[in-house]
Amino acid sequence: MGAIDAAITANGSYEKSFHQGNLAMPPARKLAIVACMDARLTIEPMLGLKTGDAHIIRNAGGIVTDDVVRSLIISQQLLGTQEVMVINHTDCGMLTFKDEALRTKLLKGTGKLAVAPARFYSFDDVEQNVLEQVHKIHSHPWIPQQITVRGFVYDVKSGNLLEVTGVELRRVA
Ligand SMILES: [Zn+2]
Repeated sequence: MGAIDAAITANGSYEKSFHQGNLAMPPARKLAIVACMDARLTIEPMLGLKTGDAHIIRNAGGIVTDDVVRSLIISQQLLGTQEVMVINHTDCGMLTFKDEALRTKLLKGTGKLAVAPARFYSFDDVEQNVLEQVHKIHSHPWIPQQITVRGFVYDVKSGNLLEVTGVELRRVA
């Protein structure tokens, strides 16, 4: 059985014991999370979250791209979230390549140019990457000043979540 078929079968069991059909749309904890898509990060149990508690926005690297900003603005302006966690992690796949090398490989492999994606956002320092993403959120003119943004690195070996400190980017209203 393929992975998608297995997932559809699993949903049959999930539906039978489902009792969360009356949750409100706004996240109960007023929390948004930007995290890497890495399969070893299971965000809800990692942070003690339940269904309906938080918006979880994920992509390769936990990068604050234009589309993540779009989701955060909707999350804050329309659905009332007030805090943002940026979560990167140890042993991230984004540490294993360089944008230019991947672009060259794709160009050679396909023989075709492509305008998008303009960048893959590979990086070589996880903590620095977290700080950059936090800064991108803080400095955006459409992110309200009272929004709290904090950055973290999750250790895939220990399960520990460590806050990236050494910088105070919290805005003063
Ligand atoms: Zn990752």
